Amino acid sequence: MEKCKKTLRIKKEILNAILHEARRSEIEICGLLFGIVVKEGFNVLSYALIRNIENSPISFKMDPREMFNEIIKHRNESMDVVGLFHSHMLSIVPSVKDLYYMKLWNVPWLIVDRNGNFSAYLIEDNEVCLVKVLIIE
Ligand SMILES: [Zn+2]
Repeated sequence: MEKCKKTLRIKKEILNAILHEARRSEIEICGLLFGIVVKEGFNVLSYALIRNIENSPISFKMDPREMFNEIIKHRNESMDVVGLFHSHMLSIVPSVKDLYYMKLWNVPWLIVDRNGNFSAYLIEDNEVCLVKVLIIE
């Protein structure tokens, strides 16, 4: 897979919190990453765990009301959606469904598993690419 031009910068404590949630959950977890868009890519400053209304270990759908509330809350603090995250039980490869929805939400998609692995993907020039994740201490 091609490497993306844009990078995702994320605070270590946010990434660790997401990995921790994934590890302790019996279903896929999901949520939004908030922050600012810069020339180089996306800077994550905050995140929100959103309820998976499919309640499934193999798919997710975010609760739309929770999504809306979080987007408004962060917009009031001048933060935009700069990524989506969700977990898989075993792999960190996007599913066919993930790839379809990535086209609708064209921000990096961070996928984590229950063993502390993670990867981020983005659609650039109509192709899925691998986003470089920079972890900020
Ligand atoms: Zn997925």
